[in-house]
Amino acid sequence: MKSPTKTPSQAASPSSDLPNLKFSGSDRFVRELRRRVDAYFEQTGRSRRDCPEMYFKTASILAWFVAAYLLLLFVFTSWWTVLPLAVILGVSIAAIGFNIQHDGGHRAYSDRRWVNKIMAMTLDLMGGSSYLWDWKHNSIHHTYPNIDGHDDDIDVGLLARLSPHQKRLGFHRLQGIYLWLLYGFLAIKWHFYDDFYNVAVGRIGGHKIPRPRGKDLLVFIGGKVAFFSIAFGIPILLHPVWAVLCVYAVAAFVSGVVLSVVFQLAHCVGEADFPVPVEGGARMETDWAVHQVQTTVDFARRSRVLCWFLGGLNFQVEHHLFTKICHVHYPALSKVVEETCREFGVRYAEHKSLWSAVASHFRWLVLMGRPTPLIEQPPAA
Ligand SMILES: [Zn+2]
Repeated sequence: MKSPTKTPSQAASPSSDLPNLKFSGSDRFVRELRRRVDAYFEQTGRSRRDCPEMYFKTASILAWFVAAYLLLLFVFTSWWTVLPLAVILGVSIAAIGFNIQHDGGHRAYSDRRWVNKIMAMTLDLMGGSSYLWDWKHNSIHHTYPNIDGHDDDIDVGLLARLSPHQKRLGFHRLQGIYLWLLYGFLAIKWHFYDDFYNVAVGRIGGHKIPRPRGKDLLVFIGGKVAFFSIAFGIPILLHPVWAVLCVYAVAAFVSGVVLSVVFQLAHCVGEADFPVPVEGGARMETDWAVHQVQTTVDFARRSRVLCWFLGGLNFQVEHHLFTKICHVHYPALSKVVEETCREFGVRYAEHKSLWSAVASHFRWLVLMGRPTPLIEQPPAA
């Protein structure tokens, strides 16, 4: 297959060894959704992007990260102050990911391309690659959520079975317990292995991707140098190596658990569908928008604290339908989306609280780890 030459932002979907998958059906639902969302912005006079509260939130979260980092670097040295600060640093890294990098990466932050780019590049400072994220998350995950073999987010290899269409291994019966711990190592694996491997082989899962070149390569290398300097190079000038490694391990573990669990709650729960392509893997039976809604679940829509901290990732139904709208609008848009789903007979699923979503993810892991799992979908919450 010919290698793709488009940049991620220009590409509709990545090149793939897999059959070219098309969605089918009428686009009436999505056209009506867009009409109502347009009406919301007209009526309120609000802007889709460049929202003042988003700039304020960005400054607050970055200040939180910088303060924790500088206190660890220059002020505190005893373990009983360093340990909680390392946890606080880890949570601030997750907050940067949820709010700043994710919106920037989707070009939902600003109408100005360079502002989105800078916000997206906060991921490079945290040890991930904004270039690869664009492919993995924006192009692959958002096009094919919960489609086994296409969506890299539900593929953790032999470690766990996340979809009913994946092969079950004997030790998966314990995945409801051990996977929570492995989530903690996600960020560490990402920092030291994933990005380098993906660039080396020029692919993410079953999808071919172009290796970064020119400016993208510069950002990739510059980002890695900056991250390793921030995480190890600078602290080692002032503190013993073992202490630096401990703080890194705690902060990376915490950010890995928080990031993984929050992303899993939207798709890896019993209320989400895991549809399979038909016609030899070439076509999905639903249209694109219905697929997005049926494979995604919201949670804790009424929690103001979580709405602030999670950057709209508890409103993933709205996010999957309107990726280029800043997440500060999702609580209001969710009412529009829910009502439209009801009228069109599209199932809209949500968990009322964070804990019911976490419990649902746990039950899903246990179900998928059983020798004879039930493949049919349970009713929505
Ligand atoms: Zn996204």
